[in-house]
Amino acid sequence: MGDDGEAVFRTDTAPPDARQALCRIAADAATLLGAADTRARLRICDGHNCSGRFVDKSVGRRRRWCSMAICGNRAKAAQHRRTAARSTP
Ligand SMILES: [Zn+2]
Repeated sequence: MGDDGEAVFRTDTAPPDARQALCRIAADAATLLGAADTRARLRICDGHNCSGRFVDKSVGRRRRWCSMAICGNRAKAAQHRRTAARSTP
């Protein structure tokens, strides 16, 4: 509660239990999906066995992975291995 008795939604404190943590996740999802600009840029990661979601803020709107350091590197390493295997006599 705020000083005036109005309910205040705060996200700057750690949730004390699982229920409140889930409420915070739901609020994040509602915030994300409620805005047309972020909703239009919401993507699912192309990474193998990854279902990560992210908002594509890239200029070309062609981002493919939730994380370049994890899923992007794995995909590029796999592509490199496939290319090397094809060129090996
Ligand atoms: Zn991913």
